[in-house]
Amino acid sequence: PPDADIRWDKAPCRFCGTGCSVLVGTKDGKVIASQGDPDAPVNRGLNCIKGYFLPKILYGRDRLTQPLLRKKDGVFDKEGNFEAVSWDEAFDVMAEHWKKAIKRSQAENKGKSVDEMTSRVGMFGSGQWTVWEGYAASKLLKGGLRSNNLDPNARHCMASAVGAFMRAFGIDEPMGCYDDLEHADVFVLWGANMAEMHPILWSRLTDTRLSRPDCEVHVLSTFEHRCYELADNPIIFTPQTDLAILNYIANHIIQTKSYNKDFIDKHVQFETATTDIGYGLRPEHPLEQKAANAGVGKKLPSSFEAFAKQVAPYTLEYVSELSGVPQDKLLRLAKAYADPNKKVSSFWTMGFNQHTRGVWVNGSCYNVHLLMGKISEPGNSPFSLTGQPSACGTAREVGTFAHRLPADLVVKNPEHRAFAEQIWKLPDGTIPGKVGYHAVLMHRMMKDGLMNCYWQMCNNNMQASPNLNEESYPGWRNPEVFVTVSDPYPTVSAQAADLVLPTAMWVEKEGAYGNAERRTQFWREQTAAPGQSKSDLWQIMEFAKRFKVEEVWPPALIEQVPEYAGKTLYEVLYANGQVDAFPYEGQITDSRGNQYPNHESQDFGYYVQKGLFEEYRRFNSAPDILKKGHEMAQFQAYHETRGLRWPVIDGKETLWRFREGYDPHVAQFNPEVEKGDVYFYGNKNGRANIIFAPYEPPAESPDEEFDLWLCTGRVLEHWHSGSMTRRVPELYRAVPDAVIYMSKDDAKQRRLRDGQMATISSRRGTIKARVETRGRNRPPNGLVFVPWFDANRLVNKLTLDATDPLSKETDYKKCACKVERA
Ligand code: SF4
Repeated sequence: PPDADIRWDKAPCRFCGTGCSVLVGTKDGKVIASQGDPDAPVNRGLNCIKGYFLPKILYGRDRLTQPLLRKKDGVFDKEGNFEAVSWDEAFDVMAEHWKKAIKRSQAENKGKSVDEMTSRVGMFGSGQWTVWEGYAASKLLKGGLRSNNLDPNARHCMASAVGAFMRAFGIDEPMGCYDDLEHADVFVLWGANMAEMHPILWSRLTDTRLSRPDCEVHVLSTFEHRCYELADNPIIFTPQTDLAILNYIANHIIQTKSYNKDFIDKHVQFETATTDIGYGLRPEHPLEQKAANAGVGKKLPSSFEAFAKQVAPYTLEYVSELSGVPQDKLLRLAKAYADPNKKVSSFWTMGFNQHTRGVWVNGSCYNVHLLMGKISEPGNSPFSLTGQPSACGTAREVGTFAHRLPADLVVKNPEHRAFAEQIWKLPDGTIPGKVGYHAVLMHRMMKDGLMNCYWQMCNNNMQASPNLNEESYPGWRNPEVFVTVSDPYPTVSAQAADLVLPTAMWVEKEGAYGNAERRTQFWREQTAAPGQSKSDLWQIMEFAKRFKVEEVWPPALIEQVPEYAGKTLYEVLYANGQVDAFPYEGQITDSRGNQYPNHESQDFGYYVQKGLFEEYRRFNSAPDILKKGHEMAQFQAYHETRGLRWPVIDGKETLWRFREGYDPHVAQFNPEVEKGDVYFYGNKNGRANIIFAPYEPPAESPDEEFDLWLCTGRVLEHWHSGSMTRRVPELYRAVPDAVIYMSKDDAKQRRLRDGQMATISSRRGTIKARVETRGRNRPPNGLVFVPWFDANRLVNKLTLDATDPLSKETDYKKCACKVERA
């Protein structure tokens, strides 16, 4: 019989970007169970294996409960051992380092304009932050501390997708939604292993495929994985040649005159890339210089004829030879896109994004959809999936990238900065105009002693970052750098830090996530965090109390707002009459009369989450400067639903953006639009951009010494660096260690058997792992796949820190390695 003492309440899953909803069962203040939420439109009562074990991620035996500081003889010492300290002492020592670094920045910035300012402090955030955590961090760093050195781990994840959205549509995030999974006739998975990475979406796709004989599935990857069991057209291609394959498809569409001329004439314009390399590049880095020389970046007017000429060399014969894909398979794929009677949904994730030409390859997929007009309607969808639960809601939407402000605004644009300053009640010229350091650049700056304070929250960059030995670890242990890590567990990152702050996780705080289909989902705090753990939000706001405005702003700024004199950044940014405008009654009560605590609100004395969200909402109802159509519903509406897909107007969510009838913004931005027609309002003229991108070889390829390709990724049972899932005994036992998946022939050639320990090396490092030639991943000869969840086998010691010059996202999917008997 149901236990009446268990309180059940909704929450999104803590893990992937699918954004399943779960019901969380709490009894006696402890989360004791979870189940798939039957009322959730995304997962309809199902979860994957990780979702079913959610409660156990809270109760790992080594959960951190106190701040830990490296000390020797009672004082902070970078070479000392960790000792438990109070929050006061932790923040005192941390603030001392930050103030010192800020002073150095101020001296260096003397005489510089707001567009030239740099900063020596930075923060590495997360697509796993709640919406208000990311928003509060963005406000503290960019508005309070005047540093644009804030970047999320989404830089490693979907920065390339963002870049391509902005280039093609002038606005971020997918136009389609998960309903496409039931509407499409053809599914194309570009390097995406949905069966393991987005299992619930995969189950919906499988249902469609198995119940509709006319439906077909094309799967493309550099190695066989579980999705191949359902593939009608299984394709293995040589790494990096996806760029060429997409150009071949575009060429096929043009040569066969299959393109949708009406759609192109009305809704598309053609652009050409020049050699402008964008932002944030450190050109002396040889790999990036090489990339820059290849030519990427700004757009120049082009034409359909010019585009046709550019893709013309990508013939079936040439691309088949380059990619290693048989001609009949390529032709079948191209015909599926070119068939006007078939609705096509393309899905991708890291295969496209973690790519030295990530923006290009994302954009080339849009090119194909736009040529056919197969976009922004049920079943016709180029769909970039996300890896993290709030990659969209937090990392992208509230401005946690080094170049962004909330709601797609960018720091480089003075009008955008002025608008943010107005909402944040800051003096004119507070927010710096120079783009901050991106994820990889932060490590380089720390290594060179040019960035001295680094705060990592809600991720595990010392395991996730590329080229750990040479590019990451040296910066963290540089005596001139002070590193703080906030985490619930002693991760690899925490162990490499100077200060570790214990963090409340998932339902130990009130939160909001935004998933891959623009769905924003809220949850309430269900249970208290252990010991002295505090949420990231509390940590950010509490740390802001340590800075008086006089310590971080020049007199010229304070003169504009004399009422701020003597105040702390906390008072200016959060207790400012708009965030603290929402009363907190001591408990949050839901419509069933259940009561929930809210520790941040108790501590700060007002409904913190509501205050931050309502302030953030003001960015989305901006006038012409935005013209983005990004409206959110009011705070309470999200607590009463299983999430809403933005834009939400008059309580109605939007399923397909840019199409009249679905997206209310279309008529708002273009009153003359025809019924059911498309209008890409993110771009001023309402047209989407087709931008040609050539095939470009990878940054590193196998050679005589390092004779294999290395590809990294995830497995179903573990999420990201495994810091949560490896603490769930059932998941740990299911997949305890990362292995080297390789072909039988490659193993035999090296005299290796299954289960045998081998060394795997690149030019950057070596690790040991067991060989596996059977099971779920079956690489072709010449390629190995190693998952990165295993803290005992840090495969990122091997990976290459070559980034896409536009998005600054690293290519974790290809570098050269060798495997030998250990
Ligand atoms: Fe759903 Fe992803 Fe959570 Fe699995 S890990 S239950 S697919 S959100």
